[in-house]
Amino acid sequence: MDMPEFKVPLREQIASIAPYVPGKPIEEVEREYGITGASKIASNENPLGPSPKALEAVRRAASDLHRYPDGSAFRLRRALAGKFGRPEEGILLGNGSNELLVLLAQCVLAPGDEVLFAQPSFVVYPLVTQLFQAKAVTLPLRDDAHDLQAFSRALTPKSRLVFICNPNNPTGTAVSLLGIEALLKTCSPETLVVLDEAYYEYVELKTYFESLDLLERYPNLAVLRTFSKAYGLAGLRVGYGFAHPALAAAVQKVRQPFNVNSLSLVGAEAALGDGEFVAKAVALNARMRSRLQEGLRDLGFQPAPSQANFVYFRDTQAPAHYEALLRRGVIVRPMGTGALRVTTGSEAETERFLIALREILGRSNGEP
Ligand code: PMP
Repeated sequence: MDMPEFKVPLREQIASIAPYVPGKPIEEVEREYGITGASKIASNENPLGPSPKALEAVRRAASDLHRYPDGSAFRLRRALAGKFGRPEEGILLGNGSNELLVLLAQCVLAPGDEVLFAQPSFVVYPLVTQLFQAKAVTLPLRDDAHDLQAFSRALTPKSRLVFICNPNNPTGTAVSLLGIEALLKTCSPETLVVLDEAYYEYVELKTYFESLDLLERYPNLAVLRTFSKAYGLAGLRVGYGFAHPALAAAVQKVRQPFNVNSLSLVGAEAALGDGEFVAKAVALNARMRSRLQEGLRDLGFQPAPSQANFVYFRDTQAPAHYEALLRRGVIVRPMGTGALRVTTGSEAETERFLIALREILGRSNGEP
């Protein structure tokens, strides 16, 4: 169809935003490559599926879909407050923690403000920075991990927002609580530090815990977590966080009245009580993460020391290997042209990936 030209001027910064590129959907790969039974280990999803308790709660709530959700999220808020021992007034809820990243930025950023984040790190940080016409200050990783001292050195009176991704996506590395606190000590109380802990449940590093205690001492800290990973509810879109009540009140003003839908509210609440499922997911992840790292090392790669549900490794032929894996029905995530990120899948998915990569490298006979 011949459409008339669109002439409404778009906001200037929209043009400069590189759209978020999600992992390739299974159906698309199967169609493109004429295969069936592809496996997706590209988006850090939970290989066990959703928490069964959440699924049951969602099924039961479906008959009430003609009603608006509880805009105050009373039950979920209370459950989170109880579980984490935090005041209800400081709890943030969003359509995924992704929305919370945007809402927090919307609350504090003015054009020209500086936003600090690592490179490479979660791709949404530069996106929200551009959205609010702020200036990105990127800090290269050091040994695949956040260089928090470099963050401290980069702070200026214009620094308004600092994103720390812990563990970091895409490398999976985690930094210690002491390091985070040292950074907070050097930050002005007028700089918001957002600690993005989307992969919190998978962390084993003893010195990582427990960031929520810092909230007592640092009113400029916000901690974000999600139901998308260990709880297996990526499709429901529920993220949560903890912040100073004054910041939480600001988020309440700018969010949509029903930003967390009714199925999400009940699903997340039920999942929160499904400790057994989370424990199972975390245990499987620990096993598969070790298996992936060991398998990659056997193939001559040096995977980053991941604390998350994915493994990152540098590969000079990443684009070619990504393609070759797709042809074999294995969907991973290319990270620029020099690295791949692989989600810890089920046992079968993990072995399939390692076998496929071994084949691609011409080592199908098992020789190193
Ligand atoms: N933060 C990080 C570091 C992530 O990797 C993701 C998901 N890819 C998110 C936030 C957003 O997760 P969600 O919106 O599903 O809660």
